[in-house]
Amino acid sequence: MQTTKPASSQPPNTGSHGRSPTDGVIGTPRFLIFTDLDGTLLDHDTYTWAEAQPGLDLCKRRSIPVILVSSKTRAEMNPLRLELGLTYPFVSENGGGVFFPAGSTPPPPAGAALSEGLWKLSLGAPYDLLVRSLREIRKELGLAIRGFSDMGLEEISSLTALDRQAARLAAMREYDEPFIVQDEGAGDIRSLRDRAEKRGLRVTAGGRFYHLHGNTDKGVAVERLVSWYRASLPHITTVGLGDSPNDIDMLRKVDHPFLVRSRQSYPGVEKDIPAIIVTEEKGPAGWNRAVSGILAGKTIGGLG
Ligand SMILES: [Mg+2]
Repeated sequence: MQTTKPASSQPPNTGSHGRSPTDGVIGTPRFLIFTDLDGTLLDHDTYTWAEAQPGLDLCKRRSIPVILVSSKTRAEMNPLRLELGLTYPFVSENGGGVFFPAGSTPPPPAGAALSEGLWKLSLGAPYDLLVRSLREIRKELGLAIRGFSDMGLEEISSLTALDRQAARLAAMREYDEPFIVQDEGAGDIRSLRDRAEKRGLRVTAGGRFYHLHGNTDKGVAVERLVSWYRASLPHITTVGLGDSPNDIDMLRKVDHPFLVRSRQSYPGVEKDIPAIIVTEEKGPAGWNRAVSGILAGKTIGGLG
């Protein structure tokens, strides 16, 4: 897989202080950064981001939006966004929901509705429909499927290594049902996908779970946000970082896609996305090196 990239292919970094002839406005952020959380900005096991802090600080200094795009719920993501000091929109549940902080500039797109202090744009299928469909599919295929809706907080907590309070937030689903298949056999997921597609739904694989969701993905949500930003910042360059198959749709939609190394490998991904760069380091360390490198306009090669 490609791990290097010539410096000349990187756009010049102007940050929030510089100006390129096409920027139009002084202070324009030059980049938009879309990032997955688990295994990417957050460590897969500890959920910490300390190693990514220098890159995050750099983005903050240059007013570069860092947009969280995760399979996590709004209930999990909003406190995390605030803890990270981010004032930008975020995407929950694999593209099901896009949330804009009150006072977002430009104003949230048409269709967004104010919901508990955030503007919410629903792109995904409603959760009760997903739960009903997964139960039907389980019956039809006779598979040992367990969705979050079948699990108590203890079970969610042990499968995710989240404490009880965090597991409670993870269970507050709106657009996506995570599930496991016990004793999974070859072809089970293919059958499951077929049944989901017949219902206009989709199954994707995340780092820990499979997910049943509507006909949305991280890429659709990212596309909506890029259009929203480009309406006022037409020359913005987009960066995407993710570590799992459910990030591929997002990585396909950005100018600079990074696959953050994880314990899994994804053969064929560079054929699918020729511009992809695989970080040498895992998780937040890989994130930091990728973001710091691209913002500095440095050669990305030798990320490790
Ligand atoms: Mg991930």
